[in-house]
Amino acid sequence: MSREREEMTDDARSELCELTREARTAIEWLEDSGLDGLPSDASPDEILAMLSGSHRPAAAPPARSAGSANDATAQRSPGPAMRPEDARPRPPIPAPAPPIVAKRTDLPAITGDELRTRLSVIAERVAACTKCELHAARKQTVFSRGNPDAELVFVGEGPGADEDAQGKPFVGKAGQLLDKMIGAMGLGEDDVYICNIVKCRPPNNRVPTPKEMASCIPYLNEQLDLVRPKVIVALGSTALKGLLGDGEGITRARGNWKVYRGETPLMPTFHPAYVLRTPTREVRGQVWSDLQAVLKQLGKPLPKREG
Ligand code: URA
Ligand code: SF4
Repeated sequence: MSREREEMTDDARSELCELTREARTAIEWLEDSGLDGLPSDASPDEILAMLSGSHRPAAAPPARSAGSANDATAQRSPGPAMRPEDARPRPPIPAPAPPIVAKRTDLPAITGDELRTRLSVIAERVAACTKCELHAARKQTVFSRGNPDAELVFVGEGPGADEDAQGKPFVGKAGQLLDKMIGAMGLGEDDVYICNIVKCRPPNNRVPTPKEMASCIPYLNEQLDLVRPKVIVALGSTALKGLLGDGEGITRARGNWKVYRGETPLMPTFHPAYVLRTPTREVRGQVWSDLQAVLKQLGKPLPKREG
């Protein structure tokens, strides 16, 4: 066989290996999430029913539940997270190695009760905040949930109706999916800290404006300075933009390690509301591969498949 021919065969072989690996990642996510065979026009209710194992196939695809905050979050963005290109087939690409980051030494490590007390002082300032227009229509501010001593932080966009009503982030349908994603990682609420770019609900669940984001982000920075996670997951393009200040769309950025404020590895991935809206194998495979990269970075085992 000519040398040129041999090289071509090698190329084809490694491409096949790569494809097999990507397919395996996607299948693992499907199996772990229990979402196998999902029609892409399933409603959030259907998807959650499937996740909880109570799904019965509907006779016809139901209309999406119009009143749901998180569903509305899913429809929010005219921005990159919702672009039609998101729907194009793209195999999950394993995340490259995270960048080496310098450990910050200028902040004392605070844990336990003192950490909680300091965070509650920030939460009180947030509760009284009128820095931007979003204060006008809120029922209450939404600060965080989970464990501030956790190594892993998830950052979303902003509260929806459910969050505005309950005062906690990610408690609606997107939140239920986020909890399932966290569960699939082999983690629970005690292993994560969850918060948002803006602390007040944008009217009609619109995307917060750059001005609103700029007003609110100092609170998030203070929060993260105290929590000092080992890894941050940015959920969707608003979170990515808020945390890094760059305009790269989530479709392009996801799966690639970034660095928050020069010290914390940050993994961008799709917002769970987007996954609810576009629950294709491809999208779920991409999110799962991003979450696996996060587990690897944290030195945690990849969950074993049961059975
Ligand atoms: N979407 C978000 O981005 N954050 C929430 O808290 C809920 C939905
Ligand atoms: Fe203040 Fe943030 Fe609420 Fe705006 S969104 S009023 S900056 S807490």
